[in-house]
Amino acid sequence: MLAASAEGPPASASALLQARAERVIAGAGGRSQLHFYRFLAAYPWWAESAEGATLTDVDGRSFIDLMGSYGPNLLGHRHPLVEQAAAQQRSRGDSMGAQTEVAVELAELLCARFDPIDWVFLGKNGSDATSYALRVARVATGRSHVLIAEASYHTAHDWGTIFEAGVPEQHRGLTGRFTYNDADSLRAAVDAADEDVAAIMITPFHQGYFQNPVLPSEAFLEEIRRQARRCGAVVVLDDVRGGMRMHPSGGSSAAIGLEPDLVCFGKAVANGRAVSVCGGSGALREAADGVGYLGTFFASAVAQAACLATFRAFDSEGAFARMMAIGSRLAVGLVEAAATAGLTVEVTGFPTMALLSIDGDDGGGYLSHVWAAAMVRRGVLVHPAQPWYLCAALTDGQVDAVLERAVEAFAEVDAAMATSSRFGR
Ligand code: PMP
Repeated sequence: MLAASAEGPPASASALLQARAERVIAGAGGRSQLHFYRFLAAYPWWAESAEGATLTDVDGRSFIDLMGSYGPNLLGHRHPLVEQAAAQQRSRGDSMGAQTEVAVELAELLCARFDPIDWVFLGKNGSDATSYALRVARVATGRSHVLIAEASYHTAHDWGTIFEAGVPEQHRGLTGRFTYNDADSLRAAVDAADEDVAAIMITPFHQGYFQNPVLPSEAFLEEIRRQARRCGAVVVLDDVRGGMRMHPSGGSSAAIGLEPDLVCFGKAVANGRAVSVCGGSGALREAADGVGYLGTFFASAVAQAACLATFRAFDSEGAFARMMAIGSRLAVGLVEAAATAGLTVEVTGFPTMALLSIDGDDGGGYLSHVWAAAMVRRGVLVHPAQPWYLCAALTDGQVDAVLERAVEAFAEVDAAMATSSRFGR
């Protein structure tokens, strides 16, 4: 057990909680799997509270939150309108073993708002929605194989998890892979499955670990349409990550120009509460009706009320435009901040979800790790290998502070380059 010792400083509240967690929580909650590993200790892991775009850990350190809980923090932690809607519903009941009118209102909103959504399934996690989508596709087509991109994250479940431990090869066997933005490799994957393809699933925004994020090229999208026609596969847009951050409607299909048969949402749609959605075209309704896919908490009315309120506040507060403006300012400002330290950096992806990479870095992103840890030590939460997920609650003052602290963090990177032989200075 970690404790204050006569020689050293007293253990932090985070360290004490970590030590307790390591005894009773498997993998101690997964921090090491989030690829912080080089400077693990720098990152806050034990949160005390969060408000707007500020996160406070159990040691009282506060951070400007550019990671948005990996997506869910869209409008700001504890957004007043969302919290009010949730509280109102909570006063009536939450998981009641029966649906509420809130579910119908939410479904009506989603059907009216998104093409091609004529019906929805409501779940809790992104993995619920994507796994459900594949069931519908399999029922609709009578086929078995599904195709996804290499290094894409669609689910924690066996069919597509990026983690291998405990997953039998047979469970992966029906999931074929292609390279994102590579039409030839998509064609080859369809051939390899002998055209027995129930679904082609893509994200509107692809980011493999330690790779720069990319958007789909028109040629690739055209190949998806062509291959789907060729083998009759269902096209699934996994908008769990891109949803609410790529288009003012909240749906990325309008941003990239793909007309999917099924769309999956999760993460941001309830501003931090657990709601996910799979919605589909009328042509797939019969197949969807035939799928049994139930979850004890799928009808939680509090989360659904929060989801409804999130869509309303997203529109009424102009959240998309605000996030775009912040993202554009950060992208330009960070390039300038790096230049003052003599570094060249690139910000890639989409303004609301972008990743910074440093010229001359090694394949493992060592300098990105140095930079991210230096930012975190200065109270700005960024990840070395994952894009930021901006929220609309970031204030101009917070953005100023991020850019000021970035200058110092880039100076640390410059110093690391000067002292490490691997960067040949
Ligand atoms: N799809 C995408 C694109 C994701 O990024 C994720 C989660 N990172 C999922 C699906 C799975 O969502 P969840 O973690 O909520 O199950």
